[in-house]
Amino acid sequence: MTATTTLSAITLRNFVGGRFVEADRAFEKRSPVDGALVAMVAEADRNTVDSAMRSARTALEGPWGRTGAGERAALLRRIADRIDARFDDLLAAEVSDTGKPLHLARGLDIARAAANFRAFADMMASAGIDSYLTEMPDGRRALNYALRKPVGIVGVIVPWNLPLLLLTWKVAPALACGNAVVVKPSEETPSSATVLAEIMAEAGVPEGVFNLVHGFGPDSAGEFITTHPDLDGITFTGESSTGSTIMRAAAPYVRPVSFELGGKNAALVFDDVDIDRAVDGLTRSIFTNTGQVCLCTERVYIQRPIFDEVVARLVDSAEALRLGRPEDEATTTGPLISTAHRQKVLSYLELARDEGARVVTGGGIPDLGSDLSGGAWIEPTLWTGLAHNARVMREEVFGPVAGLIPFDTEEEAIGLANDTKYGLAASVWTNDLERGHRVAGSMRVGISWVNNWFMRDLRSPFGGAGLSGIGREGGMHSLAFYTEPTNVCVTLSDATPSDGRQA
Ligand code: NAD
Repeated sequence: MTATTTLSAITLRNFVGGRFVEADRAFEKRSPVDGALVAMVAEADRNTVDSAMRSARTALEGPWGRTGAGERAALLRRIADRIDARFDDLLAAEVSDTGKPLHLARGLDIARAAANFRAFADMMASAGIDSYLTEMPDGRRALNYALRKPVGIVGVIVPWNLPLLLLTWKVAPALACGNAVVVKPSEETPSSATVLAEIMAEAGVPEGVFNLVHGFGPDSAGEFITTHPDLDGITFTGESSTGSTIMRAAAPYVRPVSFELGGKNAALVFDDVDIDRAVDGLTRSIFTNTGQVCLCTERVYIQRPIFDEVVARLVDSAEALRLGRPEDEATTTGPLISTAHRQKVLSYLELARDEGARVVTGGGIPDLGSDLSGGAWIEPTLWTGLAHNARVMREEVFGPVAGLIPFDTEEEAIGLANDTKYGLAASVWTNDLERGHRVAGSMRVGISWVNNWFMRDLRSPFGGAGLSGIGREGGMHSLAFYTEPTNVCVTLSDATPSDGRQA
């Protein structure tokens, strides 16, 4: 992506205080499918971020700060209805930015965006508050309860892999709890967030409650948000190293952070498994969205008696994937997000060879014809022969790649899977019920599946251990992050009356 100073072709603008605003600079967004120009994007400078913060504060101090939970739940439902009404616009935006197959964006990304708003509307409308009748040893009694107040201005920074899904996963609970947000989508995927800003206005979200700024991370909108003195909290999804930088920015202000970061997720395949089901699930878990889902599997440990068979079946599945234009319904697999990201993935392919990998399928750039030669295409790739401690088995590649490694015992498999600095997700493939529970429960991760992958209930906790993040999102975990509880303690009686009557 190239930074430019062209203003004439700007199509995507920042949204501040309820209106789209101009900028002095713009950058290009190019298609990962063929390199064509998708849009010019206005880059927010420090003043624009300042003005977004001021608008957010004004909104919090105005009527928005006095809305009730039921009123906000109704607003979230109106947003969800507008997402349904603008489904095709959001779909077009997401697909042109990411190059992902149309059917994937339709079924996963856009459908989930509406579901996120409805789910948090329901949860907020039915959320109770903690309350206790307190009895002190000296006989005093009190009613203790906790009010849930909004945190204030929340900075929302998201990556490019599931742009609208991840953005709405944070914005929906933030608004449900009465916060105002300043959001920054990835510089690679500015389009769906811009349509969402229009939707916010259409649904009647008050001015200043939802602000959108476009730009990059360091020395740009990302840094301007995270270092802003008026910010109250940060929710971030992205790379673990960016999480560290943002944590440093939050430290002087002791700001709450919620981090969903990278992963190096393992799948454990036991020899009692239904191989058809396991191969189908593993194929999805390695290659969905061209391997660019934080939950994707990059390490597959297979019990030795079925190792050769599972490897052969996975190779067949990988070779049956169809790379192509997103609008072709037969396409299963799109490009990587950018040629810059492809360069990173290619350097891991080279490293894997240096580390002794046998490439059993893929391993390079596919020839898809001249009209796609400007895109960020890469072959789905599987390796065997890697040692468990090879660098490509320890670092997140974030592409359609996985290393396949045999194991002998359950204990060994658990040890291998847990031997990572990350701790996001794991999947266990077995027909033994007790083993499924036992092994899934032994994983040092935030999410552990048995015989499935990426099946989500939005009320369940989502997040990771170690380098994979801080805190959990989903259900009451999200509502807890976006609220600041205030304990109110009301005296019911100063002491138990001497005749023993209860106060
Ligand atoms: P990234 O960290 O490079 O960028 C994420 C966002 O942060 C972008 O909007 C970027 O502009 C911004 N940013 C970058 N540097 C910044 C800085 N110094 N200050 C403020 N903002 C900054 O990540 P990416 O390449 O966009 O996304 C891929 C990563 O996201 C992978 O590691 C993947 O595992 C992770 N991810 C995690 C989850 C999860 O739920 N755990 C979900 C999706 C993606």
